[in-house]
Amino acid sequence: MKKPLVSRVYKYKNKASQFFCPLCRTERGISVSPRLTKKNYFQVLLTTMVVGSMLYPFFGVEGFAIFFAILGGFELAIRSNFKKQVACPHCGFDATWYKRDVKVARQLVKDFWAQKQPVSELKTQPTAKQS
Ligand SMILES: [Zn+2]
Repeated sequence: MKKPLVSRVYKYKNKASQFFCPLCRTERGISVSPRLTKKNYFQVLLTTMVVGSMLYPFFGVEGFAIFFAILGGFELAIRSNFKKQVACPHCGFDATWYKRDVKVARQLVKDFWAQKQPVSELKTQPTAKQS
């Protein structure tokens, strides 16, 4: 029986998804989704209106085409935020890389442990076993 590396983890309040790390079996939660939410679209719209009306004197209605640039910017930001959360903070496993390139994912885990080991001498079991 493999035990999770960390059995008590921080619980996200509004997690979009929850899963177990396939490598260390720690329970994981992700608070953001890789796609734009309704709220994000609303923010994009608002930003477009503000920026568009600023550009209006110069470009007229075409200034509102900035919408696409803003939408793209939001998408990028959200995706990179999502990616940051996907990587397991306990073992370094990155599911997004695993899907794309297993070798890279393996290397990432390796790097993660290479960085981690000198700092904490592999204290994998925190004082969480008290229940
Ligand atoms: Zn993990």
